[in-house]
Amino acid sequence: MELLACGHVANEGSFRMCLHLAVDEPEDVARLYTGRAGDYHLLCEPCAKLDDPTSQLAVVCQGCTARADDEPIVYVTGQPEVRHRDRPVGGSFQEQPAELRPVNHRCLAPLGDGWLVYTGKYLVRPGAESYRLKLPKGHEKDNAHGTPGPTLHTSPDGRFAAVAWDHGRYGAVVDLAAGGRVTLRLDRGSYRNYTTPFPFAFLSDGSLIAATEWNRLDRFEAATGALLTPRDTEWRKGEERPEHYLDYFHGRLTVNPAATWLVDDGWVWAPSGIPLLVDLAAWRAGETYAAEQGRRLALRSYAWNQPVAWVTDRTVAIQRIGDDDIAMVDGVRLYDAPSGEPINTVFGPKGRMWAIDGRLAVAADAGLEFWDLIEGARVGVLPGFRPTAYNPRSRTFATLENSVLRTFRVALDPI
Ligand SMILES: [Zn+2]
Ligand SMILES: [Zn+2]
Repeated sequence: MELLACGHVANEGSFRMCLHLAVDEPEDVARLYTGRAGDYHLLCEPCAKLDDPTSQLAVVCQGCTARADDEPIVYVTGQPEVRHRDRPVGGSFQEQPAELRPVNHRCLAPLGDGWLVYTGKYLVRPGAESYRLKLPKGHEKDNAHGTPGPTLHTSPDGRFAAVAWDHGRYGAVVDLAAGGRVTLRLDRGSYRNYTTPFPFAFLSDGSLIAATEWNRLDRFEAATGALLTPRDTEWRKGEERPEHYLDYFHGRLTVNPAATWLVDDGWVWAPSGIPLLVDLAAWRAGETYAAEQGRRLALRSYAWNQPVAWVTDRTVAIQRIGDDDIAMVDGVRLYDAPSGEPINTVFGPKGRMWAIDGRLAVAADAGLEFWDLIEGARVGVLPGFRPTAYNPRSRTFATLENSVLRTFRVALDPI
């Protein structure tokens, strides 16, 4: 009977890891990615940090590997396989002068077939009308979780716009069809609002969702500001904790195209990022506490505020792979709705992203990248072009910098 380096008999195959982890309670577990698909070896952190960590690998049994693999990962080294199979991307660039200065890269948004810009004082359609909009001054000082500042949102039908202060407190919704009249003022309170972008999303039915507390979302009619989701979510002093009390800091909201599912990229104390899958169809149909009953997609120490995009109405992509902010690799995990199960992993994508034709378009360091999730590979790149907005109606990506609106209209069947 042959014994493996861990002292156990090989019975279900053998695996390689450092012997410091072949103990009852392995600690400080690190991953060494091998460069082949998503394969990795397990090592203790000190071994993983050696010049040649592979020199520490010994053959151990499946039980020892599984025990170490269940522990939190504190460090990663090596690289998973990132596939590049670039082909030409069909489409056309255009440039036009636009004497406008968006407050930041989140203040350019699609509107109808064109664009809307927020300058800090005005909402402006380039080359057309503008509407005055000022927000109350917030008092954000902490930028540990992202830079406080406004984000411009627009409704799918192009009638409404909203400006909400990310990592801050206030916002406003305006009706562009009514001369830019403010229909709703947003206020989510001051409690740790610096930790997340302002939770906000327009739906395609003329309603919107916005945070009204750190742990509460509400749905409103955009045209009137009428509250559509009255309910009791408070936990009053001296009372028992109510069944529907939610101990969760809401984060950036991403709605699927059919407005039936919502991913909330928020967090809970530890702190841990917990992207929640919320049944928007049920909430819209009158399920009072649907927003309090989201399904957990993942739990990741110190990690939230990641790019999120719905690839289809049933599949959502969430960026960064790993369980802890200090030990992540670039890529997306795909989750299924309604099950909430992870269904695929693609290594490589990093940057703000949008879905197009079932692929992901990622504004990466190299430029605008197109990732095919079935191939698990990057299939095209537009070098040097890093758009900050995407208009799904006109299939156009855009940046507005140095008074130039630069766009790329993606061809039908572009790759
Ligand atoms: Zn070791
Ligand atoms: Zn063993």
